[in-house]
Amino acid sequence: MHETSIVHSIMRTLEMEFEAEKIQKMKAIHLKVGLLSNIEPRLLHNAYQASHMMNPHYQKVDLHIESTPIKIQCEICNHVTTVKNYRFICDNCERPSKNLIQGEEMLIHKVEFDD
Ligand SMILES: [Zn+2]
Repeated sequence: MHETSIVHSIMRTLEMEFEAEKIQKMKAIHLKVGLLSNIEPRLLHNAYQASHMMNPHYQKVDLHIESTPIKIQCEICNHVTTVKNYRFICDNCERPSKNLIQGEEMLIHKVEFDD
């Protein structure tokens, strides 16, 4: 499953970034997931829950997923538009644009630790 491999890659990233001691004190992971990233937050939550059987120390680590909207920047007037209903049209000059500046990413935004 797509989401399972994403969960594994998040854990791998955290384990490369932080020492094992620090990982033990982790209490929350905050992700930002773009609306165009093909990641379904609900499925990602499910995959995360399922992974606890293999990695029980993540059981007390909360996973927060924030969906980030799609944004385009107009090639003509440079205006940044938040895309609604997949309507890729500049708010300012009403020209169509496919110049995505946000919405496809999946990133670890913040990690919280117990003091
Ligand atoms: Zn424009």
